[in-house]
Amino acid sequence: MEKILVTGGRGLVGAAINKIVGSDSSYHFTNSSETDLYEYKSCRELFQKYQPTKVIHLAANVGGLFKNMNQKVDMLEKNIIINYNVIKCSHEFGVKKFIGCLSTCIFPDETVYPINEDTLHNGPPHSSNYAYAYAKRMLEIQCRLYREQYGDNFMCIIPTNIYGPHDNFNLNDSHVIPGLIHKCYLAKKEEKDFLVFGTGRPLRQFIYSDDLAKFIIWLLDNLEYNESLIVSPDPAEETSIGKIAELIANEFNYLDKLRYDTSKSDGQYRKTADNSKLKKMYGDLDLTNIEDGIKKTVKWFKNNYNTCRK
Ligand code: NAP
Ligand code: GDP
Repeated sequence: MEKILVTGGRGLVGAAINKIVGSDSSYHFTNSSETDLYEYKSCRELFQKYQPTKVIHLAANVGGLFKNMNQKVDMLEKNIIINYNVIKCSHEFGVKKFIGCLSTCIFPDETVYPINEDTLHNGPPHSSNYAYAYAKRMLEIQCRLYREQYGDNFMCIIPTNIYGPHDNFNLNDSHVIPGLIHKCYLAKKEEKDFLVFGTGRPLRQFIYSDDLAKFIIWLLDNLEYNESLIVSPDPAEETSIGKIAELIANEFNYLDKLRYDTSKSDGQYRKTADNSKLKKMYGDLDLTNIEDGIKKTVKWFKNNYNTCRK
């Protein structure tokens, strides 16, 4: 019987996979309360205990633009360590399928759009997130080396910006959607302006966590495939931060109070990703549209305000 270990099992993507697989007992969702994956010994004990045949490795030091700009040493070191430990144990315990998570924000800053899987290492990343980006690029390298030297089936997916229930809604560290949902919630409660950072002009592709979870589960069964794969909506679905802010403000009926703080960074202007490889393999992606995804996420945040990560 397969035994599937999911690291980062109660995070944004982990929780979405958990919701889909339900009570399937072949899955074990681990979290930092069970095991500190920064410690090699603890990581090894976890593998010893569960003897996984497949690993979905989601655990990471994750955050939005401002966390990436302010905590560069942690973004580099913690991600390098956690990936090193989990991959090394996956090899040692004979894992036959490993899926790691990169991100479209780790591609070269100066590039030709839309970016595709082949251009990952062709130039330095954007200055705002180069610590996280270099750590994640090493994850791709490490997987590739295990494939080349040992024939291990270790691969990486490259998702665009992810959002949904169980995200991190912290005001300082989070990604833009959960950060703005929390900000708008507080602004309305305190009758203040809803402050969006930057100009609102940058463009992003957003994928709802349940949709990403569906592709990860599908890939897990595809033992043959072992190259990096971009998982994103179509380039035409690129959405401005301003549009995202308006959709969120609308959910709270607070559009009148939306303001921009242009003293704050915009980060990378765009990182348009090409999903044609995924579409060729999977067919029709059937993704949640951004309006519905934001509606569901705001509803979840309001219903879980007291207990959610924030
Ligand atoms: P997330 O919600 O922050 O979940 C990551 C989880 O990692 C956390 O829940 C945390 O577990 C766990 N973790 C961190 N340090 C750990 C440690 N030392 N030991 C054990 N567990 C630890 O992140 P996500 O958004 O689901 O991201 C999943 C993957 O996708 C990550 O690899 C991320 O880099 C990548 N990615 C994310 C985005 C995005 O927009 N969110 C975009 C592209 C790629 P606890 O909660 O138990 O502490
Ligand atoms: P990125 O896609 O990796 O750059 O990360 P984010 O999800 O943090 O998105 C950053 C973009 O959203 C930048 O253009 C920011 O200026 C803009 N933004 C606006 N308000 C906020 C906010 O409150 N938090 C974050 N993280 N970004 C914001």
